[in-house]
Amino acid sequence: MAELASHGRAWIELSMDNLRHNVEALRALLPPGCELMPAVKANAYGHGAVPIARALNEMGVQAFCVAAASEGVALRENGIQGEILILGYTCPENFALLPQYDLTQAVVDYDYAKLLNAFGQRVKAHIAVDTGMHRLGERYAHFDRILAMLQMEHLDVTGIFTHLSASDSESPEDRAFTAGQAAAWRGLISRLGRYGYAPRAHILSSYGLLNYPEYGGAYARVGIALYGVLSERADLARCPVELRPVLSVHARVALVRTLFPGESVGYGLAYRAAQRRRIAILTIGYADGLPRSLSCGRGSVLLHGREAPIIGRICMDQTLIDVTDIPDVQSGDDAVVIGQSGEREISAYTLAEAAGTITNEILSRLGARLSRSEEPAARIASLQ
Ligand SMILES: *Cc1c(COP(=O)(O)O)cnc(C)c1O
Repeated sequence: MAELASHGRAWIELSMDNLRHNVEALRALLPPGCELMPAVKANAYGHGAVPIARALNEMGVQAFCVAAASEGVALRENGIQGEILILGYTCPENFALLPQYDLTQAVVDYDYAKLLNAFGQRVKAHIAVDTGMHRLGERYAHFDRILAMLQMEHLDVTGIFTHLSASDSESPEDRAFTAGQAAAWRGLISRLGRYGYAPRAHILSSYGLLNYPEYGGAYARVGIALYGVLSERADLARCPVELRPVLSVHARVALVRTLFPGESVGYGLAYRAAQRRRIAILTIGYADGLPRSLSCGRGSVLLHGREAPIIGRICMDQTLIDVTDIPDVQSGDDAVVIGQSGEREISAYTLAEAAGTITNEILSRLGARLSRSEEPAARIASLQ
């Protein structure tokens, strides 16, 4: 069978140099005894879980977290080494996958611990503790239940963790709430210690590591920061390290055509040409993760170092842009949806702001149809 070209239709280019830079920058912030446990859930926030985890393995990373058992299985089937913690719920029908693929399961509460224990095979587990987020986790105040989980016959409890709900916020109320979570956490861990239990405890995610490294722990579960962006642009002002975006997103020009005055283009006749226009049809759509809310001029792409507005409605597989002011656009050209072209850049922040969301959502929704490969060296050189 002939191989599909990696830059055939629409694709993601990964800069492993930038990933390495972020790993080193974040490692420099780690409190003593703490190691990175990168969050590679949701296909590594759209970047591609296997290429990212493989590169991280090569950089000495030996622990990962994912959201779903299926994500852990896919990593193991592709040879990823080290601990893989499933942060989310795994249904009992899938418990057999845990020992089979050497996956560590988050214990989402006491009842779940009993269910997992009743499965009867030895399973590695980290106990999830609720210190105020009230999502997953057994309440920290239920000390007897937490102790009972540590003593369950078939659970090999190697860790315990909690999650901060407002570690990104600078407001005094949110900072006080976060301090309360941390105090509850410290109290629980020291009490467990008095009972002779010292599972590997972890509390920090990206914003936790950036804003509260003093909370310490055995792991920092970093996701978004590792990919070189924060959730919102405004947070960059107090980010203690320089982070570099790991991905760029590209699509091809399928064809260029002329619209004559009065003609419209795309679904719903949503764009009508007042004068003669040159437009290009791009091979990327909302099924690839380009938000449909960027239709009708609310978003743009880069071509030949120039900005081309999106016109009409973004389709499932294609997007229409106006290239009247950009000379020499041809079928096959590379359009940049996220990334740099010449002197210009469209960042994940720009897309997120135009779509009214955070970068985490934009990145994690980049679709399965995009091919993902390492950035060619020539392109990296041209950007320096
Ligand atoms: C997704 C997730 C993380 C990673 O969060 P970032 O903000 O992307 O660093 C850490 N911990 C838990 C429990 C998560 O669900």
